[in-house]
Amino acid sequence: MSCIFCKIINGEIPSNKVYEDDKVLAFNDINPVAPFHVLVIPKKHYESILDIDDNDMEIIAHIHKVINKLVKEKGYDKTGFRIINNCGSDGCQEVKHIHYHVLAGKKLDWYDACK
Ligand code: AMP
Ligand code: ZN
Repeated sequence: MSCIFCKIINGEIPSNKVYEDDKVLAFNDINPVAPFHVLVIPKKHYESILDIDDNDMEIIAHIHKVINKLVKEKGYDKTGFRIINNCGSDGCQEVKHIHYHVLAGKKLDWYDACK
């Protein structure tokens, strides 16, 4: 498996973990665009939300539950935050393992995330 996020999950590539349970891993983005920039990923490999069928919907709810916990721990429930899921080519998805960016800690621009 050449997926870099699967390698992070299995420990082949190091990461700065902020949360982990049996279904989900959250770690700091290596190239942060905000003071708080965490990626939340399922441990099971899905390329994007297009691979999430009815039987897998629970993982999306679980990811949102984890994000809720992480932002509250940091007080960003009071100041605000943004969740981004890039999908496909025009969505500028670089890593083909579904991931949710969580950005916080400054007033966020509405920017074009493509590099
Ligand atoms: P996307 O463009 O939505 O696919 O975002 C992929 C994100 O993964 C980018 O923000 C990268 O900075 C981040 N990223 C890539 N490799 C790593 C890594 N090894 N550790 C942490 N974040 C990474
Ligand atoms: Zn993967």
